[in-house]
Amino acid sequence: MVAPKDEHLALSSGIGLAGLAIGYFGEFGLGAFETFREEIIEVLLKPNKTTAVHWYLSYFQDVSEEIHKIKGNVDELDYLFNFISNTLDEVNLKPDLIRPDFENCSDKWHEECSCNEIVEQWVKYVSKNAEMINELIIHSAFQVIFLDRKFLHDFHLELSDFVESYIDEIREAYPENVTVKGRIKRTHFPKWLTDAVFYRDKGTCSICRCDLSKLIRTQNTIHIDHIVPLDIYGSNDASNFQLLCETCNTSKGARSTATSSINVPFWNL
Ligand SMILES: [Zn+2]
Ligand SMILES: [Zn+2]
Repeated sequence: MVAPKDEHLALSSGIGLAGLAIGYFGEFGLGAFETFREEIIEVLLKPNKTTAVHWYLSYFQDVSEEIHKIKGNVDELDYLFNFISNTLDEVNLKPDLIRPDFENCSDKWHEECSCNEIVEQWVKYVSKNAEMINELIIHSAFQVIFLDRKFLHDFHLELSDFVESYIDEIREAYPENVTVKGRIKRTHFPKWLTDAVFYRDKGTCSICRCDLSKLIRTQNTIHIDHIVPLDIYGSNDASNFQLLCETCNTSKGARSTATSSINVPFWNL
């Protein structure tokens, strides 16, 4: 047995972004799809660890912009520094820089002291690493959003409208990935995806809730299902899958987006 590969992943860094992205989906979902049209089309064809949800999240995540805003709105230097320090802490980055000593600084407006200069070094560090910081926060936010099957259902339903309107463009760019009928082609599921879906759904069928965890995990007993089916312009995006039992998989129609927001609380496992 190989232990799962873990990494530093403070969920607190992503929860704020996840909440924001869920809350504003109705308002900004389509706009974000348009903004990242080419990038999103690329990840819809076959399961990719960077998903359409990652691109949607990136629409809201810009650490340099946040710093810029704080600088414009608040003139309290310690507020800016705390924001930077907390952000870096959450993504486990530890710059080798002097910290400002606000407690012992007698200059309330930090005009004659070195506090401003020191904080500016931290701002520079963030600017230089902004892309990586944004990626880490998006990575963390995805861990939270991936748990929310109900949101993924709504997300992929909206995305199916996008796929439908761009299907000719997709066919032109990737002819081998589109069917004669004008739908994205079925592909095989990599093991990292079936494992992720199995554990996310805690080994239970997403519709009838029957327990699949005791079964031998072969394709005959568990089914990885497209939440929004390919037939109605769903995609192979890695966030569009759920675990189903044999019976529910057989009876779920080619146009059904059935899922449930029922979950197994940790206390009940
Ligand atoms: Zn100072
Ligand atoms: Zn079932």
